[in-house]
Formats: sequence, C-alpha cells, structure tokens
Amino acid sequence: PDPLATAVQVVRGYHGTHPLREEEAEVLFGLALLRLCLSVAIAGDQRRARPSDEYLAISQAPIARTLPRAAAIPAAFAAAAMRAACGYDPVPAATRVSQWLRRRSAAASPPQAVLDLSVGSPLVAAEPERNAEPALTARIAAWLRDRGADGAIGRYGEPRLLHASSTFGEADAAARRTIHLGLDLFAPPGTPVHAWFDGTVALAADNAAPLDYGPVVILEHRTDEGDRFYTLYGHLTRESLRGMTAGRVVAAGEAFAAIGSPDVNGGWTPHVHIQVIVDLLSLGADFPGVCRASERRIWQAFSPSPNLVLKVPGADFPDDRLDTAAMLAARLEGIGPSVRAGYRDPLAIVRGWRQHLYDQSGRRYLDAYNNVPHVGHGHPRVVEAAAFQLAVLNTNTRYLHGALAEFAARLTATLPNPLRVCYFVNSGTEANELALRLARAHTRRHDVLVLDHAYHGHSTTMIDVSPYKFNGPGGLGARPWVHVAELPDTYTGPYRRADAADRYAHDVGVMLAHLGPGRLAAFLAETCPSVAGQILLPPGYLARVYEHVRAAGGVCIADEVQTAYGRMGTDFYAFQAHGVVPDVVVLGKPIGNGYPLGAVVTTREIAAAFDNGMEFFSTFGGSTVSCAVGLAVLDVVQQEELPSHAARVGRRLGAGLRGLQARHALAGDVRGSGLFWGVELVTDRATVEPAAAAASYVVNRLREEGILIGTDGPRHNVLKIRPPMPFDDADAERLVDTLDRVLREVAP
Ligand code: PMP
Repeated sequence: PDPLATAVQVVRGYHGTHPLREEEAEVLFGLALLRLCLSVAIAGDQRRARPSDEYLAISQAPIARTLPRAAAIPAAFAAAAMRAACGYDPVPAATRVSQWLRRRSAAASPPQAVLDLSVGSPLVAAEPERNAEPALTARIAAWLRDRGADGAIGRYGEPRLLHASSTFGEADAAARRTIHLGLDLFAPPGTPVHAWFDGTVALAADNAAPLDYGPVVILEHRTDEGDRFYTLYGHLTRESLRGMTAGRVVAAGEAFAAIGSPDVNGGWTPHVHIQVIVDLLSLGADFPGVCRASERRIWQAFSPSPNLVLKVPGADFPDDRLDTAAMLAARLEGIGPSVRAGYRDPLAIVRGWRQHLYDQSGRRYLDAYNNVPHVGHGHPRVVEAAAFQLAVLNTNTRYLHGALAEFAARLTATLPNPLRVCYFVNSGTEANELALRLARAHTRRHDVLVLDHAYHGHSTTMIDVSPYKFNGPGGLGARPWVHVAELPDTYTGPYRRADAADRYAHDVGVMLAHLGPGRLAAFLAETCPSVAGQILLPPGYLARVYEHVRAAGGVCIADEVQTAYGRMGTDFYAFQAHGVVPDVVVLGKPIGNGYPLGAVVTTREIAAAFDNGMEFFSTFGGSTVSCAVGLAVLDVVQQEELPSHAARVGRRLGAGLRGLQARHALAGDVRGSGLFWGVELVTDRATVEPAAAAASYVVNRLREEGILIGTDGPRHNVLKIRPPMPFDDADAERLVDTLDRVLREVAP
C-alpha cells in the first residue's frame, strides 16, 4: 500500500551492505518507476504477439496497483527519501536555507506563550466533533485568558489529532497526517500579517476544505547565497487574496494580509499558519501543512522550522518525544529493569478514549487488551467525579463522609447475601492480602490452597500464593503452607473429557484429606484464571471444590479482579455462573477504571472475627476520591448496561473467533465469554504442542495493524483478548478479520 515506505526499507538494507553513492540514491526511485513503465510496455507488446501466454502478464497486476501510487509521489520527495534511507542529507538546499534563516531574527517580538496542541494535550479531545468550532476556539481563548496572554504560538513538528479529522478511515489509521510543519501564531481576526522577508508572490489561493488553509498566500524569496525558498501564510481573510497576483513584489515587514475568522479561514481558531518551504514539489497551495509521522523527517527537511527565525523557547516540539528508542533508554535510566514495556517495538501512549489508545504520533489503536479502563478510557463521568472530589476533599476513613457508606451500600447491592461488608484498599494485591488476613483471622489457621499458574499480586505474601511467580523465572518454589491444585484446564490438562470437572474436584478433595484437619485457612482462586491462559473452569468444578474446602474448615475467596462488573457478560460477577457464593470476594482493576481502587467484600461473621482488637487502616483505601470514583464507575456500568452489551458483543466476537478456529489449524482452542477470550495457538492439534513463537508474532503484527492484544498462559501461547467494555460489534469484526489475515501469514 505504501511503495515509498517499502522502497526506503529495501534501500536502507541494501545500502547497509552495498553502499550507494549520493547520486545513485537520488535517481534510484525514478529509475524504479521507469523500469515498471518499461515492464508494462514490454508486456503489452509481447501479449499482442502471444495473447494466450498468461505468463507474460505475470507481474502486471501488482504493477497496475503500485505504479499509480508511486508515480503520485513528487519525484523530489522520493529522491529525498532515498537519500535519507542511505544516510545522506535528504535536502541539501534546505540545510543551507536553514543556516541562513538561523542568522535572521523577527522584526517584532513574537508571542512567548506556547500552546500545547499535541496528541496528549488536555486542550484537545480524541473525538473530532469536540475539536470542531466553536468549541476549539472557546477552549483556546479560555487558555489564553487564564494566562493573561493576548497571543500564543503553536508548535512546529508537533503531532496533532486536530488535523486527523474524520477524513481518514480505520484502515488509514497509520496514514493519518498529524505532524505540524509550520508555526501557528494565534491572534484576533483582522490582525495584520507582515511578510518576513523581501520577496514576490508565488501564488494565492483559497483552500476552503475544513481545517485546510482557507485563504493562503505563498511568497517566494532568495537567500544571500541565491537559494530559493518560500514562506506560506495560511488562514487569512478573503480580502488578503486581493491583488496577490504571481510576481507582485512584497517587501519585508509589509502588512500584506490579515488573520481570518473561523467562517473563512478553514474553520479554525483565528491564527496564521506560517511555513517555510524549500521546494514546492509542484504541489502549490496543496503543499501539506501537516504530514504523516512516518514521513516527518523528509517533510521537515523540505519545511524547516520557522522558529529558526523567531527563536521562541519551546516552540519546536521536542523530537525525542517521537522517538520510542530514546524514551525507552531514558526510562531505563531511572526505572528498574524488571519493569518491562510491552511489544517488540514498545508503544508510547499519550491518550485514551473509550476503547482506543493514541500513541505520541497520533496513531490510534484499538485496545482489545486492557480491562482496567472497564467503562472506557477517559470516561467523562469518572473523570469529572475524580476531578470534582479531588478539588473539594480527599481524605481518609478516620472521618465520616457519606460517600464511603454509599459506595459500600451500592457495591454490596450488586452481590448476593451474605456478602454485606466492605473494606476498601488500593490494588488487587492489597485486596488479596486483606482477604487472606480475614480468612486467617476467621479460621485461626494458616494454609492456603491455590490453583496452578495463578497470579494474585506482587507483594511478598501474594508472590507466595502465586505459582505463576514462585514457580516462574526468579521464583523460589512453594512455601510449606501453600498447596497447589491442578489447573482445571480441559484443553491441555490431564482431564479433558466430560467428567473433567468431577475429576479435578475429586483430586482437590484427596489433597485436602491428605492435608489433615486444622490446617486450611482459605481456597483462593480466580473464577476465570487469566494469567494461567484465559481458562474457563468446567461447570460444576467450583461448587464441588467449595464443598471440599468448607468441609475442611476453609474459607472460599473468589479473586474477581479480572472478571468483575459484567466482563463475562450479563452476570455482574463470574462466580454467579458457577452457582456458588464465596465467603470473600476480591475486587480490583475495573472497579476504579484505572484509579487505584481495590475492595474486599465479606460476610458479617468473618468481619466480626477480623475485629479482634487490631485496627484496620489503609491511608488511601476508601479515600473520598476513590469512593467518588467507585460510585461513578458503578453508575456507568449500570446505566450504560455494560454487562448485557458485553454479552451481546461477546456472542459475535466468540462466533468470529470460532470461525477462525475452523479455518486455522493453529487456533487450537477458542474459549471465553462476554469480553474475556483466549485463543490457544498450537503447532499440532493432536499433541496440543504450544505455538508460543506464533503467538508472539501474532500479537506484534496486530500491534502493527493498530490492534492491541496480549499473550498469556504458562506456555505463552494463548492470545488474550480482554478489551474495555465499550468495545463494539465493528471492533469485534475488525479484530477477527485482522486476526484472520495475520494467522494466514503464520500458517505452517
Ligand atoms: N489478582 C488477579 C487475578 C490479577 O490479575 C491481578 C493483576 N494482574 C492482581 C490480583 C493484582 O492486582 P494489582 O496489580 O492491582 O495489585
């Protein structure tokens, strides 16, 4: 789809082992196009002589696709890209012009207030409609008012969502134009625009499309060394175009135009966009003011920063913020190396909105992985609740505040009897820690039964009860008080038939019998083991195990950190589908939608046993803000009916994934419900040999395609799909279609 990007990669690789001279690099792309033209001509001629010989046209279809795309790329642009691919200065004339510009300075002092309109700026929104007028102008005007500034400057090289409006569809997500190639000077409409240098009018036009330049004038100049360059002034008044015929002389400092109002200037907050252009590339007034991030180095070479002249600190977007390798290196300086970034090519994410994440260059990703932003990234209701409460009061449970009791009441109302008493903490780890303390206080025993490959948190004790950690790299094995039951995996585990639930549960009974009386404090298990590979417990298993545990005097703790609030569809909690009622329910991730919030809900009896004289206090647990956030999240889950939405979309997603299982031998097992799915990749369905390398390939390829999922499971071969709940039918379809395509790439 992108011949130049492909050519750049090939040429870079070629140059690496067989260096090209500067002049070779420069003519290469043009020669490649000529070669394709030749091929078309030769094939046409030969086909006329031998019409029945299909082979003669073997390369014509791909040429017919590629050639028009490649020919549409301005020749000088392609040559610059080829030069850059070989490490040569892409546009040598631009380097000379830049040096000349650096020696100039502005005639009047430019505004010093630098406006952040980057992807991660709070001044812009992810939804194009919220960036449309009059909202955008009002927001920028308020920002200026707050700072007492009457003008502001918008940055060169800045990645922006503003320009990426709705003109690009999902398939073009990577092709969105986001990098700003000029400087914006914000000032009231009618403000005169002065020419920066002596010159002549190259052209004047009205590009009236939304967020385009509107009325625009391009002046032509020469440096003292004789290099020609241009300055472009966009978003002017219509009157500015009057008399602007090509060749008209304009003197430096002459007020030749004025800033337009949103109704004429392309629909923008009033400002002039000033851009330096070294070669118009025959694009005239269509010369881009914003370019694709992947091509920014070349476009920026053709359009050096006007701030070379203005010299306003901070008016050039810092280039290293678009460089993930530099960001990773900076992070490793100050952050422990065991804190890992995901993906082969890590993502720098700066914005989230509903089921989408945006990287620093403005590329949008479909988030099919993160269950923490349960009601969606940046849900306005949750944001508002947190911000308002933070501005008024954020303190702890030592003071009475209505929100604490209200949140407890609302939360327990979602749970069956006798789960009536809440404790609030800050994370899933902390919630599991507390759950264990409750169980031990209640039973006055110590031992814990867990499922193999489970993960329950990162604290010392939670590592001790997480086989995924203590049996994994760097782990020290099981403590004597920790007992590990077989993971009831009916796809690769020891029992796979219809009686699997009975058999796995029976083994737990045998294990507890061997343990002897007076030992077991708790059975701690996820209702749908996630890190263990998106496992669905076989029906009947949990009920039987709960019987064994209770018979042994233990407490049943359900870790619903991954699955609460309707993730599995319809039911609010995963355990409800298993017909059990735990003694303690542990909640985390989704209930705060990313605000650190964990909860433990238990029975009055267990809470009474825990009240043994020792006070329970968590500084931040149950804070005023966390209760406000918790209430807002519950409101949204219930009012937007997210559990039944998950059930509906999940049926569609599941059907799509099962379709893939039918088409791809690699997709050995598909399991899940609601918006919680696992696709287990195997190299051989009979032996269920794990295809971990394929799983890693798929996840990284989907990331390239703009879709985020993960891998998990003890054998690292399970694709993990667990999106924010606003994930919809179209998203499910896109995920399944893209996965289908990527699985075809790895088909053995
Ligand atoms: N329990 C389960 C099932 C989890 O998946 C996690 C986190 N992945 C935790 C507990 C720990 O939660 P946190 O990271 O919030 O401490």
